[in-house]
Amino acid sequence: MTTASPDLALRPVPRPGVLAIEAYVPGKSGASGTHPVYKLSSNETPLGPSPAAVAALHGTAGGLALYPDGNSTLLREAIATKYGLDPARIVCGAGSDELLSLLAYAYVGPGDEGIYAEHGFLVYRIAILAAGGTPVVAPERDLTADVDAILAAVTPRTRIVFIANPNNPTGTYLPFAEVQRLHAGLPGNVILVLDGAYAEYVRRNDYSAGLDLVLNADNVVMTRTFSKIYGLAALRIGWMVGPAAVVDALNRIRGPFNLSSAGIAAGAAAIDDEAHVAAAAAHNAAWLPRLTDAVTALGLAVTPSVGNFILVHFPDAPGRTAAAADAFLTGRGVITRRVASYGLPNALRVTVGSDAANEAFLAALADFIGSARDA
Ligand SMILES: *Cc1c(COP(=O)(O)O)cnc(C)c1O
Repeated sequence: MTTASPDLALRPVPRPGVLAIEAYVPGKSGASGTHPVYKLSSNETPLGPSPAAVAALHGTAGGLALYPDGNSTLLREAIATKYGLDPARIVCGAGSDELLSLLAYAYVGPGDEGIYAEHGFLVYRIAILAAGGTPVVAPERDLTADVDAILAAVTPRTRIVFIANPNNPTGTYLPFAEVQRLHAGLPGNVILVLDGAYAEYVRRNDYSAGLDLVLNADNVVMTRTFSKIYGLAALRIGWMVGPAAVVDALNRIRGPFNLSSAGIAAGAAAIDDEAHVAAAAAHNAAWLPRLTDAVTALGLAVTPSVGNFILVHFPDAPGRTAAAADAFLTGRGVITRRVASYGLPNALRVTVGSDAANEAFLAALADFIGSARDA
């Protein structure tokens, strides 16, 4: 008798594509040392959540033994009221990341292609590969999605196009006219996903998150999140609005209880607290130019951003690189985001933080530049 039959040597093997995925690496959250730690690595809001959302969360504590409402009705109705939408056209997700994955699972399979921009949000690549599809990367111009390049990448196999507008980690955006031009050039069977994770921060007259397009087309969806300006990242709450047929497909494949009771209640309360959102947007609008100008004055290039973060570019010179800056800043308790996995090895993404965090970042960065100059 042999001790191990050939059959026992077989192992489960993931579907093609799964092992091509490099697991998403979140921004670091800690640093060792004595300084206070300022986490500017995940685009979270320094204002935290609305107190009304926290109160609503506490209100759910008595019902933890019960399954949540599988249709997230309270939350969908609150979103529908705010945006003047039909709640039937809204799907909620465990973060918008879940919705991005569900869109890929529903519409992309082996042999199909999904397009995203060169420095686009990495969850798109993961979602396409996990669904068994082939990721297709469209080159950018000036760190901005390029509509002509995306349209040139479309083939008969294309099923989905993901655009973060504004994009993370670049902070750049497409004017709505460009989004409309992109949509007009896509075949009707290709879904255009407009990811508006940072939409509330944008203050540009030529910007739109794209709701009008969603409501007037059969192949456009918009995803939004409570993780950024609403300050509820820990609860995992996202939503999508789209054509009835897309909503129907997602409702078939999503988990039957994909949001927690806590997420449903807190999200619904948060969306009603418009003053809190306005305060977060105002804080960001005040700091975005200040941070950009101060970093530029230190001799570093900053990509113009309309989000709640900036992309800072470092020289490719020993001791002055993004990696060196990251180590130096971390030693000072300022945690930023390396973006080498986005094809930006010489840049750091820095979230607009509290007054104290932003001052600490600027002071530490000035010292880094000074020490690199002396070296
Ligand atoms: C942060 C972010 C999201 C939001 O993800 P959640 O799953 O809702 O927390 C989506 N898209 C982009 C581009 C982001 O930066």
